[in-house]
Amino acid sequence: MVENKKIFILGMARSGYAIAKLLANKNEIVICDGKDQNKDDVLELENLGVKFIKTIEPEAILDESFDLVIKNPAVFPYHPCIKKANSLNIPVVNEMEIAFHYIKPKKIIGVTGSNGKTTTVTLIYEMLKKAGVPVVLGGNIGTPLAALVSKITENDILLLEISDHQLIDLNDFKTDISLITNICPTHLDYHGSYEAYKKVKRKIFNNQTSNDIAIINKGNYDCYDLTKDINSNKYYFNDDNNYIKEGKIYIDNKEVIDTKDIILKGEHNYENILASLMILKVLNIDFKYALEVLKEFKGVEHRIEFVCVKDGVSYYNDSKSTNPTSTVTALKSFEGNIHLILGGMERSQDFNDLKPYLSKIKKIYAIGEVRKRIEDFCKENNVKYEEYEFLKDAVNSIKNNVLNGDIVLLSPGSASWDQYVKFEDRGQEFKDLVNKF
Ligand code: ADP
Repeated sequence: MVENKKIFILGMARSGYAIAKLLANKNEIVICDGKDQNKDDVLELENLGVKFIKTIEPEAILDESFDLVIKNPAVFPYHPCIKKANSLNIPVVNEMEIAFHYIKPKKIIGVTGSNGKTTTVTLIYEMLKKAGVPVVLGGNIGTPLAALVSKITENDILLLEISDHQLIDLNDFKTDISLITNICPTHLDYHGSYEAYKKVKRKIFNNQTSNDIAIINKGNYDCYDLTKDINSNKYYFNDDNNYIKEGKIYIDNKEVIDTKDIILKGEHNYENILASLMILKVLNIDFKYALEVLKEFKGVEHRIEFVCVKDGVSYYNDSKSTNPTSTVTALKSFEGNIHLILGGMERSQDFNDLKPYLSKIKKIYAIGEVRKRIEDFCKENNVKYEEYEFLKDAVNSIKNNVLNGDIVLLSPGSASWDQYVKFEDRGQEFKDLVNKF
C-alpha cells in the first residue's frame, strides 16, 4: 500500500488516471503530461486533490521532494525525467506494479510475447467465461489493473495482457501462471537492443517459484533459450506433446480441435489457440468449452479483420500490425493478388522480412513517415509501388487499381504514432473509407 507519499505521475492517459484515482486520498499527487487530457477526467482528479500540469518538460518539475515516480508505459526508459529520477534516487515503477499490492485474486495469469498477446488473452477469457470460471480481464488489452482493483474478488482469476513496456517497470509483481507466445526483435528503439528487450520479457517469470507455472513456446528458439533457467514449473507448447499437425491441434498427443471446424484462420491464430488450450490444460478445464468458443469466434478487431467484399475484392484491416513480422504473418494467410498498404512511424523497422512473400503482392502502397524507405525497398526488389503521405490517398488510389478476386490488406508493419493516437484509429479510418466505396 502506498500512503503519505509525494508521487509524481509521468504521463496520464488511462493508466495514469486510474492510478491517480486509486492513490489520491492517501497521497499527494502531481501528474505531468505533454498533451491535453480529457477535461472531465482532469476535473475529477483535481477534485480529489491531484495537481495536473501540462508540460513537455516534466523534468523541470520533478525534484527531491518526491518519493516515487509512476511512469506511463509509453514513456521511454531514457526520458530526461526518468534519468533525473534515477539521479535523485527516486524509485520508478508503473501503475501495474502499484495496483498489484492492492489485489488478492484466486490466481493471476499473465500473457506476454511479441505477437499474439491480445488474441491469446481474448481466447482464454472467452474460454474461461464459457466454462463458468469467474474471470477479470485487464492490462495492456484495455483496462488498467488500477481501475480493476475494486472489482477483483478472491474468487476471481485475474487475466492480464502484459507488454514489454509494462514489464520493464515491474519489480514485486508476480503471476501464478505466465504464458509467452513468442519473441522477435521489436520495440528496439525503446529498449536499445534485442538483448535488452529479451531481458525485459523474461521478467514475467522472474519472481515465479517451482509452485508457479510457465507456459512457453518451444517452437520459438529465443523463448526457449530465454527461459531455460527460470525457477517455474515449465510447460511447453509446440513440442512433441502439444502441437499443430495437418490442421489439427493436439494436447498431450490427443486431438482436441480440427481447424476445419472453427472460424479463425491463419497458422499464427492456430498457435494462439494452442497457447490458450495450454491454460485450460493446467487449470484442468474441459476442452469442450474451447470448441464452443471457437465455433463462434471471428477474431479480434484490427487483426486481419475481414471488413467487406466489394465488386469481388476482399478488404482486410490488420492495423494492429506494428512490425514487419506481423505483416509477414498476414501475407502468409492469403494466397496472393494482394494490394498491401504498408508504413507508418519510422522506427528503423527492417522490411527485408517481407522478401520471401513479395510474389504474393500486386502492389505496395507506401504511407506515413517511413514511406521513402519503403519506396527504396520496392525499387531494390522490383515491386510495383505507389507512395502517399496519408492512408486516405492510398485507399482512394486502390479503388481504381483493383480487380475481381484481389485482396486489399492494410498491414502497415509500423507503429501508427506518426499520424494517429493509436492503431485502432488507423484501422477505423481504413474501415470507414472502404465501407464508403
Ligand atoms: P499483440 O497483442 O501481441 O500485439 P495480437 O493478438 O494483437 O498481438 O495480434 C497482432 C498481430 O500479430 C496479428 O494481426 C498478427 O499479424 C500477428 N500475430 C498474432 N498472433 C501471432 C502469433 N502467434 N505469431 C506470429 N504473429 C502473430
